[in-house]
Amino acid sequence: MILLSYKRGDFLIKKARCIPLRVHILRAMKRRVRPNHEKTQDFLNELGRKEAGIYGEQSLDYYLKLIPETDHPFYIFHGLRLPFRDTFFQMDTLILFSNFFLVLEVKFFKGTLYFDPKNYQLLQEVDDNPLKVYPDPILQASNQCSKLQSWLRTRQLTDVPCEKLAVLTNPKVITKVLSSPSEVDRNVVKSPALSAKVRMLLKRHFSQPLDKKFIKKLIKQLLKDHTPDNSSPILQYGVLPSDIIKGVLCPCCSPYKVMKRIYGTWECLYCGGKYDDAHRAALVDYALLISPFITMRELKRYLGLENRLTIISLLKNLNIEFVGGTKSRTYNLTPLLTKT
Ligand SMILES: [Zn+2]
Repeated sequence: MILLSYKRGDFLIKKARCIPLRVHILRAMKRRVRPNHEKTQDFLNELGRKEAGIYGEQSLDYYLKLIPETDHPFYIFHGLRLPFRDTFFQMDTLILFSNFFLVLEVKFFKGTLYFDPKNYQLLQEVDDNPLKVYPDPILQASNQCSKLQSWLRTRQLTDVPCEKLAVLTNPKVITKVLSSPSEVDRNVVKSPALSAKVRMLLKRHFSQPLDKKFIKKLIKQLLKDHTPDNSSPILQYGVLPSDIIKGVLCPCCSPYKVMKRIYGTWECLYCGGKYDDAHRAALVDYALLISPFITMRELKRYLGLENRLTIISLLKNLNIEFVGGTKSRTYNLTPLLTKT
């Protein structure tokens, strides 16, 4: 996970958005798990939901830049995951203004949405499909606020007021309200209206700003307590090393085809594409799906290469180092992951 802190206008991104490791693994599973694996549809569904979420959150960035200027800097944290009792809670985007928090629950829904806060639900209608039921996003955002305030108490930090908004990032989504219209009006917003909504919140919180030292301490503690989700989809979906397709895959063919090494380059016999460094992506997949460590014997099998000198030369060019003596030599693929 990369933590960035850079100035942009008068707000500071204290935690940048990054693609979670779980998504990198799910993407690698899509490429590499044999298509007839019994859980294929399940993990592809999870990946689809996650990709839509990432797309929606990225589309929000433009509107975050339109948030009005304030007298004091404010701080943005993307994907912060904090401890709560014996588990964790994750906020899509958290903004710390000079005297209040704003939790954004970001939703990339399509079709028609029926808000029904009274019954703690959201109904979604897409084309002629049966209605789908989701938890009420206002309640979800509210729960995030309660958990954040509980976290402040456990860290013995002064209470900070918390506001919440459910942000709909799909411009084509249609919204209808079944119950509590004023609650929906107050707490649900489409991305283009975010800055106007924030302006209203800033007016409501016109009191004294929090002490600068306290803000600094708070930011430090938030970043310190951030715990990335390292749960493994491999174990969850029961994917075994024997389920992983071996070989260097053509980046252009769909479904993926295994390429051959011909005259010092990787060549796809299906589309005719030639690639010099396609083994890099194959090794990244190995590190994500099987192990960050690989032996020469396994390298030969996985890359489909006989000649160890070829393999050694390819690894050298990728700056991959080995550990152990000649016979028990293991190559460490970890450096490839940090650049993923
Ligand atoms: Zn191809």
